Amino acid sequence: MSDTIYDVVIIGGGPAGLTAGLYTSRAQLKTLLVERMIMGGQVMTTTKVENYPGFPGGIDGPDLMMRFQEHCQEFGLETSYGEVENLIDRGETKEVVIDGKPVQARTVIITTGAEPAKLNVTGEQEFVGRGVSYCATCDGAFFRDVEIGIVGGGDTAAEEALFLTRFASKVYLIHRRDELRATKILQERVFANDKIEPVWNSAVERVEGDSSGMKTVVLKNRVSGEQRSLDLEGLFVAIGVIPKAHFLAEVLDLDAEGYILTDAECRTSIPGVFAAGDVRKKLLKQIATAVGDGAVAAIMAEKYLMDAE
Ligand code: NAP
Repeated sequence: MSDTIYDVVIIGGGPAGLTAGLYTSRAQLKTLLVERMIMGGQVMTTTKVENYPGFPGGIDGPDLMMRFQEHCQEFGLETSYGEVENLIDRGETKEVVIDGKPVQARTVIITTGAEPAKLNVTGEQEFVGRGVSYCATCDGAFFRDVEIGIVGGGDTAAEEALFLTRFASKVYLIHRRDELRATKILQERVFANDKIEPVWNSAVERVEGDSSGMKTVVLKNRVSGEQRSLDLEGLFVAIGVIPKAHFLAEVLDLDAEGYILTDAECRTSIPGVFAAGDVRKKLLKQIATAVGDGAVAAIMAEKYLMDAE
């Protein structure tokens, strides 16, 4: 691997990365896609995707991502697993350091996506895996016939609250304001579900429990200041995402929240390095927009390579 100079190295195997890989491998550019954990990105933790065109009735997130991968395989995309630790701009080539080993590339497309944000309250870390979770699809089935909570007011919290009602006897939807941010259709489903009880204007103060797991969530009403304890077996946290670009903070221009700054054609502050999908600062984070970004970044990388010849 180390003697090869790739035309394109793609960092991250979510919808943006796989789309970029599909385009560049189909364009017969020598491409390597590096993924840290599991191909498919955040979509792998989504039960049903209802707003990706072409799948009336919806499709399971993992099924959709399996199709993306199969499609890339058709064009011979080379993939590998490893953690990208650094990116060094050497002008005509870029050095991508994967698990301590340098890989040379003429262009790089960063599609590392985002990961769930943490509440950063007492007890949260202590009870991760013993009540506290960031993924309803992964852990929901462990909470059958018990009362649980989910924190957040966005699409993820609404979707996950609905999903969790399949297992839990009751789901408290704990939100810091008195209205949800989630899209109308999801709000309507949440409010129509008898198993979901919204808890408005409430912030999680701490999570308590014992050696067997979490037992209680202590909330504070942000309007009245009153404290309230809910005895819950589980707490799902769905308060948004943080971009996975911290390893590039010294290399690329990021915004204050850590998103990679690009122009409309996905170019970053380094010529030949592009960013696509949720890691890029942009208005709308959807599978459809990640796919659009991946295609744009791939075409721009191809154009960059042609211009450099
Ligand atoms: P989001 O839209 O950023 O919503 C985060 C929610 O968590 C907000 O309601 C926010 O409250 C709350 N929050 C943030 N920080 C908090 C804190 N420290 N403590 C308590 N609450 C906090 O995040 P998301 O729901 O994960 O969605 C991320 C993106 O993916 C969005 O663009 C969303 O549309 C998209 N998405 C789309 C779908 C779909 O189309 N089916 C599904 C999932 C996600 P405030 O409302 O007060 O700010």
